[in-house]
Amino acid sequence: MATMGDHARSPLPRQLYTRNAQLSGPRATRTMHIPGHCGRHTCKVVMAILGQLQRSQVNGSFRPDAVGKDVVVFGWVQSYRDHGGVVFIDLRDRSGFVQLRCEPTPYADAHRLANLVRSEWVIAARGKVISRGENVNPKIPTGAIEIAVEELEILSEAQTPPFEIRDGIETNENTRLTYRYLDLRRPELNNNFVLRSKAYQITRQYFTGEQGFIELETPILMKSTPEGARDYLVPSRVHPGQFYALPQSPQTFKQLFMIAGMDRYMQICRCFRDEDLRADRQPEFTQLDLEFSFVTPEDIYSVMEGYVQLIWREMLGYDLTLPIRRMTFTEAMDKYGCDKPDLRFDLPLTDLTPTLKDRVEFRVFVDAIAKGGIVKALHIPNGEVFSRKDLDKTFPEEAAPHGAKGVAWARVTATGEWTGPVAKGISEDLRNDLNAQMGAKEGSLILFLADKASVVNASLARLRLVAGERLGLIDQKQWAFLWVTDFPMFEWGEEEKRWYAMHHPFTSPRADQLQNLESDPGSVLAQAYDLVVNGIELGGGSIRIHRSDVQQKVFGLLGLSDEEAQAKFGFFLDALKYGTPPHGGIALGMDRMMMLLTHSASLRDVIAFPKTQKATDLMADCPSDVDDKQWAELHIAKRRV
Ligand code: ASP
Repeated sequence: MATMGDHARSPLPRQLYTRNAQLSGPRATRTMHIPGHCGRHTCKVVMAILGQLQRSQVNGSFRPDAVGKDVVVFGWVQSYRDHGGVVFIDLRDRSGFVQLRCEPTPYADAHRLANLVRSEWVIAARGKVISRGENVNPKIPTGAIEIAVEELEILSEAQTPPFEIRDGIETNENTRLTYRYLDLRRPELNNNFVLRSKAYQITRQYFTGEQGFIELETPILMKSTPEGARDYLVPSRVHPGQFYALPQSPQTFKQLFMIAGMDRYMQICRCFRDEDLRADRQPEFTQLDLEFSFVTPEDIYSVMEGYVQLIWREMLGYDLTLPIRRMTFTEAMDKYGCDKPDLRFDLPLTDLTPTLKDRVEFRVFVDAIAKGGIVKALHIPNGEVFSRKDLDKTFPEEAAPHGAKGVAWARVTATGEWTGPVAKGISEDLRNDLNAQMGAKEGSLILFLADKASVVNASLARLRLVAGERLGLIDQKQWAFLWVTDFPMFEWGEEEKRWYAMHHPFTSPRADQLQNLESDPGSVLAQAYDLVVNGIELGGGSIRIHRSDVQQKVFGLLGLSDEEAQAKFGFFLDALKYGTPPHGGIALGMDRMMMLLTHSASLRDVIAFPKTQKATDLMADCPSDVDDKQWAELHIAKRRV
């Protein structure tokens, strides 16, 4: 992680400063008392009229070749100390620190002011760059020099901040979010946004340059587009009882751009989803949104692979080998129990159901199979490192949130026999077959899950990650990219007893399966794909339906009557009738990508003003009530609760 003063930090834009400028011209000064200090020392402070000072260079940019220069610097007081009458101040700005040296003579005024300053005060200083001689600090890039201050200005005082402004502090996150502007001053966090800006520039250059995309904007106040989440709604003042929705994504608009002949669209856009927040979600987030005309999935893969290769190289110096590996949804679920497997390590799962069927006596397995469920195993070679406590507590606890009622296990001895709860209900023959199927041998630990397929897969996917981490199989420097392809079009929702679009309702079925759309929707595969890296879904997209009749049919399968489809999407169904190019697209989660590229632990570290887990902005105290007049204007009555 780059830290303050690191070379990776970009200097402030050049136009903000002029090299070697000095405080010049008649100085407009005024004398005033500094509250809080004047009680003890009657001090008079010269306040600068800001416009008269010109910064000569940013603080982190001083190197030994600056020695001898007269300079003006600005910044925040990071620290101050008095060494035998000489005051040293570390002055911070976005680019790093520079040390100021304030001697009592001959610049007594500056020295007196230096004695007053406190942490986070904003000051300006003029002086000469001198060598630190023997006292070089090799740990910081400006450590070879310091500025011998001749004049010092206090531009603004600061109250004592609620936490120290430096990296590595253990501060309650709510306090950090309440004082986010102070939190953002911390070098590491500050640098995340310098990097975010860099990533945006690379992104725009790549897509709008060689790839021929144009950057277009879509409305924020729009008609709701279902993407599977709840909409944020905005009541209309002008149209009583009617609402706009904030976009969950600009999906219909980007497709309309294709119909409008824009050919290739890009936007770095804000999307909004009113969901219960999980650790890696925010109610508003940023997507890199793309749409292409006249394409096959291959074209999209190739443009996107060029992009991630470029951005990983420019941001991290990482050399990503192309093409990116591909795996069908079915294979991912079979082998890894999820559609975003972390492929930095293997540890595949094995479906034992066909081998066990009619041969196993272990009750839990027999019951699960009888109920139409499955039995699957995670085979961990060299599983001796897992203790009895892991088997009895850690694994069941990790699997429980995914619906698992327990985790059965067996250890394999030198002779291929099993120990553990499952051992008894398995004949020797069956055991040998199972060992052969999984490649289990001495030292192997086998974890079994028996339940309905969704519970088994989700639980084992989690246990696979726990085991991979504990065994040290995850190379933190590796980036395992993966395309997951051939998703099913629909998934069945037990609660409402209807089909749901697995990606979204505009996704095209595979052309060769169109005829099964109505007769067997569950079997139809979509032309949809996800881009996964290290077990995280970076983005996803699809080839779209470009025929109005097919779109109407899919809406019907999703439970929308013709009237509802017309009311919600009439504009879109109409548009499809006016000459629609075959098209497809993808969206990448920019926040997630930045989290990966900055090695951040939380999405909140790459979003400047994020919301809490409860979707609140602690700094601005939002959401908040509005006054009665606003309620009335929006034609909304308050309900007493
Ligand atoms: N609109 C989709 C999403 O936000 C992405 C896409 O299909 O392009 O997930």
